[in-house]
Amino acid sequence: MKIVDTHSHYGTVSDTPFMSASFEEVVEVSRKAGITANVFLGRVESAVDPSRGGERKNLDIDLIMRINEEVLDRTSREPDCYMCCVLNPLHARSFEQTEELLREPGCVGVKILARYHGYDVEVLGDEIFSFLADQDAPAMFHSIENGFDDPPKIAYLAAKYPTVKACMAHMYSCGAPIALTHARLIRTCASTSLYAGLEHPYMAFYSIIEHTVREICGSDRLMYGSDLPCHVPAAQLAAIEQADIADADKANILFRNAERFFGQEF
Ligand SMILES: [Zn+2]
Repeated sequence: MKIVDTHSHYGTVSDTPFMSASFEEVVEVSRKAGITANVFLGRVESAVDPSRGGERKNLDIDLIMRINEEVLDRTSREPDCYMCCVLNPLHARSFEQTEELLREPGCVGVKILARYHGYDVEVLGDEIFSFLADQDAPAMFHSIENGFDDPPKIAYLAAKYPTVKACMAHMYSCGAPIALTHARLIRTCASTSLYAGLEHPYMAFYSIIEHTVREICGSDRLMYGSDLPCHVPAAQLAAIEQADIADADKANILFRNAERFFGQEF
């Protein structure tokens, strides 16, 4: 079965001694895990500028734009690698670059990092979603409960702009109990273009995949993502592959939904 990793990065996490990897390492680890296509959502430094010390932000638009060019260069040399352009909507130049990169065959969407770029996605949501609608581009949103890019904010915007495909990454709740907020929003959102990504180690908890698919939202809008180099892909993949759900559900999660979301056969 094909496996599309809809969410990976490479680069150096400056405030931990682990969770860093070169582009080549990520590609090697992915291929070893059986991943057949990899969508890179920027380098780690697109979100966390090492020059800001422990402050996990990147407010340097020149650095973000330079990294986008680098990721395009790296991914375009590998037949199984694709990218999303990291957009910071606080800068007109970033919209221009994103529009330009979306014309490249390997650039399949947009990545939004509101919490790391220092704005509230609700405040700039109309600018972001009207741009995505104009470009007919899908977007991957960093989305956890943090006051900047919380899943309900993305779901509200997705309902307001139903033609825009939007994926809320990191399906888990910050606190206990694990509420699976992303999955509940998929069930209730007026738009069928709202997706959620499974990228978090919690999603390998015993029977959580079965519970999510059977009891909450089905499998039509869930996508596998590793968030490499943060997490080991084999662990989450084993949880999906060994889950007690139909093969059709596994195919949805592992590649079919990704192909629909990105409008791309991987
Ligand atoms: Zn990520």
